[in-house]
Amino acid sequence: MDAELNLNILIEDTLLSEDLKNIAKKVGDQVRVTFEEAVILYETAELAYLGVLANFIREKRHGKKTFFNRNFHIEPTNLCIYDCKFCSYSRLIKERSQGWEYTMAEMLGMVKNYDGIPVTEVHIVGGVLPQYDLKFYSELFTAIHLHRPELHVKALTPVEYHYIFKKAKMDYSTGMKLMKEAGLDSIPGGGAEIFHPEIREQIAKDKCTGDQWLQIHEEWHKLGMRSNATMLYGHIEKYWHRVDHLDKLRKLQDKTGGFQAFIPLKFRNQDNQMSHIPEVSVIEDLRNYAISRIFLDNFDHIKAYWAMIGRNTAQLSLNFGVDDIDGTLDDTTKIYSMAGAEEQHPAMTTRELVELIKQVGKQPIERNTFYDVVTDYKDFIFVDDVKPKYYKLPVITQSDQVENNPVN
Ligand code: SF4
Repeated sequence: MDAELNLNILIEDTLLSEDLKNIAKKVGDQVRVTFEEAVILYETAELAYLGVLANFIREKRHGKKTFFNRNFHIEPTNLCIYDCKFCSYSRLIKERSQGWEYTMAEMLGMVKNYDGIPVTEVHIVGGVLPQYDLKFYSELFTAIHLHRPELHVKALTPVEYHYIFKKAKMDYSTGMKLMKEAGLDSIPGGGAEIFHPEIREQIAKDKCTGDQWLQIHEEWHKLGMRSNATMLYGHIEKYWHRVDHLDKLRKLQDKTGGFQAFIPLKFRNQDNQMSHIPEVSVIEDLRNYAISRIFLDNFDHIKAYWAMIGRNTAQLSLNFGVDDIDGTLDDTTKIYSMAGAEEQHPAMTTRELVELIKQVGKQPIERNTFYDVVTDYKDFIFVDDVKPKYYKLPVITQSDQVENNPVN
């Protein structure tokens, strides 16, 4: 296997520091990398080295398989009671004229727009506002399920759950049970930012804490349910804050096994209160994907949002530990574009996603939310590509010639 060969060559490299050589050996032996070693990776490892390690792990787990799904987003509102410094998406309530607040009927209308279209998941996430409370979301999830029972509802983050449960004077455990009964199928990974209070209090001080984020996911996992996790990187945090974040996720995953995918989110500096902070480079993005893959040995999937990092970087990321590039989206999300992402109207057809993945030698797999295979596109031929076996020339009779050629 190429990935294994590359790792062995790396381990033999006499120019490599002892620390990096030991870490490479550990990865080869499938031994867990420590907190301190992850900091060493962030501080000293070059991209090519990290790529070899991350790709070795990726290929062991998934081979060339690369996952995507057919999904759409509903963003109930872009108004928010919170004021996260990095947020380009939300408008404070005092700027109400610049916002949208969809009603239940409007959101159900959005779901109905997909009737007959083979999407498998609706992803619901937005700002926090008082009218979107426990009752509202319970009714919304139930109504979506009544209309389209097979559509997977992936919705809200601990930021919203903490708020609506607190408002309803309900503990997390009772609240999550209620959400499950209402029709919630899984939780996306948002709202995690950086868990460490030293950073969180500077960039997102009023919303749920890192510990509360983890507790809500834990309660959800206890119900036998699945969720994702994110990390907002590349702003004021130090490398060790990232490792602390990854370490907390790894510990919870050891306990519950409920996380499916980890999604690193790049800080973008357009139109927010941290615009003075430069964005990190694509090299740093790839290093971060790779280190996440190396450190999170108990997470099945590392995901990149193509809409956030752009199609070319998404392709590159597939050689740095990423095995999932999210979904078709259908231009239904504004979160990335408002933050200055390359993709201002993110939408790809299934065919475009398949081609994007095949162009870099990977095997496209359309998945559902739980990573069951919907379609393996390895040898798939799209209808448009089917060439007729033979082409039958029209038979022109003498009378046709006379009719069609009046000069004769
Ligand atoms: S990041 Fe989320 S919670 Fe924070 S201001 Fe933006 S929408 Fe509100």
